[in-house]
Amino acid sequence: VHELSIATEIHRACRKELMRCGGGRLLEVRVAIGELSAVEPELLAFAWEAVVAGGPDEGARLEIDWHPVRQCCPDCGDVSERQPGSWLRLCPICSSPLRLEGGRELDLVSLGVGERDEATEVHA
Ligand SMILES: [Zn+2]
Repeated sequence: VHELSIATEIHRACRKELMRCGGGRLLEVRVAIGELSAVEPELLAFAWEAVVAGGPDEGARLEIDWHPVRQCCPDCGDVSERQPGSWLRLCPICSSPLRLEGGRELDLVSLGVGERDEATEVHA
């Protein structure tokens, strides 16, 4: 349900961009989704298909750029040893408390718009 409302929002934003650029058909939309945005990419892709089904943008593809959270140590910098989905509280090297960076993205990155065969990129 959460993903469905986000997919609806994305589609609304796409239509607005399309109108601003003189119309056309939506072929593809690229969004940035962060690990902390509480969005499941698979559910969002599924919801997207439901949102565009039966409309003028049926078949438009949703491309998802996944942005994981980075864990940073104030002393050692990026800590990349984390397994997906698990968290370290302390730096494995110096045991300082870690900071989280990134992963909150939920943005429209670009649209692929087409009229018949030709496709043009519109950057939102
Ligand atoms: Zn450290």
